[in-house]
Amino acid sequence: MLLWVTDESMACTFVNKPMLDFSGCRLEEVAGDGWVQGVHPDDRARLLGMAEFAYRSKQPFTLEHRVRRHDGVHRWVLDTAVPQFTAEGAFTGYIGSCVDITERRAMEEALRESQERFQAYMDNSPAVAFLKDEDGRMLYVNRPFETFFQTTLEQIRGKSDAELWPPETAQQLREHDLAVLESGQPTQIYEDVPAPDGTPHHWLVLKFPVVEPSGARRVGGTAIDVTEQKALERQLHHSQKMEAIGRLAGGVAHDFNNLLTAIQGFSELLLRRPDVHAAAKRDLEEIHKAAVRAAGLTRQLLAFSRQQATQPRVLDLNDVVADLSKMLRRVIGADIQLQTVAAAGLGRVRVDPGQIEQVIANLVVNARDAMPRGGRVLVETANAEAGAGPRACAELAPGPCVVLSVKDTGIGMDAETMRHIFEPFFTTKDAGKGTGLGLSTVYGIVRQCGGDIAVQSEPGRGTTFSIYLPRVEEEVEATAGVPARVELKRGAGTVLLVEDEDMVRGLVRETLELAGYEVLEARHGKEALTVCEQHPGPIHLMVTDVVMPEMGGPELVKHLPTRRRGMKVLFLSGHAQAAFDHPDLTSTKAAFLQKPFALDAFTRKVRDVLDEAA
Ligand code: ADP
Ligand code: MG
Repeated sequence: MLLWVTDESMACTFVNKPMLDFSGCRLEEVAGDGWVQGVHPDDRARLLGMAEFAYRSKQPFTLEHRVRRHDGVHRWVLDTAVPQFTAEGAFTGYIGSCVDITERRAMEEALRESQERFQAYMDNSPAVAFLKDEDGRMLYVNRPFETFFQTTLEQIRGKSDAELWPPETAQQLREHDLAVLESGQPTQIYEDVPAPDGTPHHWLVLKFPVVEPSGARRVGGTAIDVTEQKALERQLHHSQKMEAIGRLAGGVAHDFNNLLTAIQGFSELLLRRPDVHAAAKRDLEEIHKAAVRAAGLTRQLLAFSRQQATQPRVLDLNDVVADLSKMLRRVIGADIQLQTVAAAGLGRVRVDPGQIEQVIANLVVNARDAMPRGGRVLVETANAEAGAGPRACAELAPGPCVVLSVKDTGIGMDAETMRHIFEPFFTTKDAGKGTGLGLSTVYGIVRQCGGDIAVQSEPGRGTTFSIYLPRVEEEVEATAGVPARVELKRGAGTVLLVEDEDMVRGLVRETLELAGYEVLEARHGKEALTVCEQHPGPIHLMVTDVVMPEMGGPELVKHLPTRRRGMKVLFLSGHAQAAFDHPDLTSTKAAFLQKPFALDAFTRKVRDVLDEAA
């Protein structure tokens, strides 16, 4: 121990042998105020200041400063001094000791540096990081953690998951922590931890066991916010799924259409025969009706897979609503009241009945979803004037129109939600519940019909969707499906029929012959080309399927020999869009009829195509 003694006037009166050895000085050299020379010049003022203060207050003091060692090297010492008094209480000076703390200070310095480096590293990391003890109490979090969760380490140090997070979150985190502690292995997992405002966030977390030098076991972790990626992934997955389903539905509908064409057509042919018994005819009517209904279903499948050709018809929306309301009541359930108000003298519109049904059904289903605790849906029709009204029908050409509105008493929407509702895949519903395709489909259909949509809504105040459709002056068209009364349109000429499906080919052939045409047959495009080459006479019309083995309809048209170029073409298909999208078809004078079709519609179409000026 290095010892020193000073008197009441701060003059050194004694230093011990170890102190002399340390400094390499003789007592005379340090006595009086000679000791000051041994103190590092940079520390002198601080030391003297402290000493003067101590002499005045007569209090013990400690101070770290540098003194010169015998070898000229300055060493850091911890100087501890206590005042001395006589038995009578008179102050006689200080006695002090110095301990060499150079190593300790160097270590402290290194430690501080390493700590600062660690801190800078963690705080600049893009990942959120944390360290918890075995009981799940927070020991450390980095700045990104503090920033995201709007907290500070001070506020959450020592707190458990249960004190920091909602119960399900806490439980999930704790389970993962325990698994890491138990296995002693790092793991990569996803965790759901909400932001302070409650919005859900999804994290990719690396959790790992940390054993401290003391043997204490901890759980460390770094996490990155993958909420957005996950949403994108889900969306992609969803659209892929929809596309696959669409393709599947389209494929099924296509095959189904061929069968329905045959069922519908053959029952029609039978219904037209005079030798069929009246009782049998009643049964045949039922078969025919069932086939027409099945055709409605395939049309929906095709609409869903976006392969449907629209079949607009002049109709009264009141009829559509009336026909649909039974089905809608079943859909919305008992807690919700469905009211319909049909305007008297409602104008007609030209729309595809299947599509407009889809529009109404989508809006009513949305209304139902907005009223989990029951309520009222009002489906109302009215005449209106586009251009005269509010901005509601900005997209609509001015003139008379018909409004169909669906009004609910549900939760309503805020402005932000309203901005996005027509975007495909926008949904506020839970995964698996909403597809976000309802309103985008509605929008597509309404715009396709030349109409527009207006929305009125407020949170908690219900929602009204108003569909504006241009009014037409024509009378309502009779629905198909009254075959026995309509005469087949007759004609003459040679028709080349190209169809791979035997049943459909047989049906069409029989129908064409009944209507007075000569029929040539082929099972696919290549066969049709051979017929075109070998048949000596004229061929006035080619009726062809679109999708066939060997060679499809569009390709067949492209390869027709020059002398058949004037021939007219009528496409028959379950896939509508496919035909119209084909670049070669837009240039050819091609007509199109969607399967399944009523025979009179078919023969009428055949005549129309033949009669059209070349
Ligand atoms: P989905 O019904 O699958 O969510 P939609 O395209 O039909 O998709 O609707 C999109 C979103 O619009 C819904 O998730 C909902 O937030 C909002 N929405 C639609 N109709 C209503 C309504 N009647 N009341 C409240 N919100 C609605
Ligand atoms: Mg919907």
